[in-house]
Amino acid sequence: MECIKHKRVKDRKMIKAMRKDYCERCGAYANIEPHHVFTVGSGGGDIAMNLVQLCTSCHIGAHSGSVKRDELLAIVARREGVKYEDAYRANRRAMGYRVD
Ligand SMILES: [Zn+2]
Ligand SMILES: [Zn+2]
Repeated sequence: MECIKHKRVKDRKMIKAMRKDYCERCGAYANIEPHHVFTVGSGGGDIAMNLVQLCTSCHIGAHSGSVKRDELLAIVARREGVKYEDAYRANRRAMGYRVD
């Protein structure tokens, strides 16, 4: 069995670069915060494919589970112009997993 090393991609500049003044989920213009689709705790990287800008209420939903990760990843994939599966793979790769 292969040993998986969690080597998270860290990039503060990317977090800054991805900042927007509106919520990418509901379009609200208020208190927008960057959210990691794959959480930092689970090894999610600071890459464009893993960052989405959310208003406070969507952000709370994302962390409580009422806003599903699938939905957020679909938003990111659409924004980056890639398929959902490709966005998923890019994130797994940034988390140190081997992705075919
Ligand atoms: Zn929102
Ligand atoms: Zn968050």
